[in-house]
Amino acid sequence: MKYCKVCIEPNTRPDADFDETGICMPCRYAAEASAIDWDARRRELEEIAEWAKSTNVSGYDCIIPVSGGKDSHRQALYCRDELDLKPLLVSCAYPPEEQTDRGAANIANLIDLGFDCIYVSPGPETWRRAMRVGFTRFGNIYKSTELPLYAATPKVAIAYHIPLVVYGENPAISWGGAGGSLDGDANRLKYSNTLSGGDMSWLLDAAFDPDDLYWYTYPSDEDIDRARLRLIYLGYYMDDFNDFVNGPVSVAAGLTCREGADADPEQTGNLEVFDALDCDFLSANQMIKRMKFGFGKVSEQCSMAVRWGRMDRAEAVDKTTRYDGRCAPRFIRAFCEFTGLTEDEFWDVAESYRNPDIWERDGNEWKLKQPPE
Ligand SMILES: [Zn+2]
Repeated sequence: MKYCKVCIEPNTRPDADFDETGICMPCRYAAEASAIDWDARRRELEEIAEWAKSTNVSGYDCIIPVSGGKDSHRQALYCRDELDLKPLLVSCAYPPEEQTDRGAANIANLIDLGFDCIYVSPGPETWRRAMRVGFTRFGNIYKSTELPLYAATPKVAIAYHIPLVVYGENPAISWGGAGGSLDGDANRLKYSNTLSGGDMSWLLDAAFDPDDLYWYTYPSDEDIDRARLRLIYLGYYMDDFNDFVNGPVSVAAGLTCREGADADPEQTGNLEVFDALDCDFLSANQMIKRMKFGFGKVSEQCSMAVRWGRMDRAEAVDKTTRYDGRCAPRFIRAFCEFTGLTEDEFWDVAESYRNPDIWERDGNEWKLKQPPE
């Protein structure tokens, strides 16, 4: 493993993009951000908003996909209050057994701020089984759920003739190596790593009935073009669309954060109290991601903080060493109960994804051969 010279982003991320001096793409972007003409981007965004208003035939100018978290709150409030848009929120909800109470409270808070919302709730049996198959075949708990989370929004937009979809951050710019575009255009979102072009062949191979997968099916490029649907990343147009601002803005608007043991990075592998609020399986997924690629959520959070001048590299290394990939047993138990796996089965799958090129055995523990330093 090699690490970015500025932050601690490793080169093991799929599609990682380091330049010849050893600096990762998000750090290069951050270094150039001060030279960005944000006024010009704001004007571009206002033009898009005007276009959406003039194209409105349904009563809604845009759709905002929401989980109810910090980014959702910021997007919804910004579109309505700053851009004067009339948004319809679309929430593809986790099944009740998976969604946390704080996640439910947060979506309720968002609606209570004065928004209309369509709830899309794919059937829990298919959801549960697809999650199990995605986990065993790809070592990714969210492999299946990303499909409806991303497909539901353009499907509703097309069905309701709503011209614009406003996503939050551009994952390629924020995290690097995710495919898609490096600007405000989200029309190629489905070609990102997780969505792989909306590929569902692996679900069909596992004998799912296509009729049960309506909400998992991303609209074709032709359907999106025909509907003249425009998908954008709000984060591209704003100089302060980031965790450091979205978190406090959303808390001020009533967001419920993690607290107590659920906010302890030792147990969650997550430094932020307002991050991943709606599902607690994330810690297990990040733990497995670290087995595969050598980094998890804390590494990403620290890299972002270093990149934006909010943490020095030594602290990033220290926090990542202490907390990255942490996952309390209760989160794994909850995931096993939800999917019907035994804990032995869970660990067999998880360990099968550990990459022996980057891990070595040290007594009873696994250690990264090349930790960040
Ligand atoms: Zn970097």
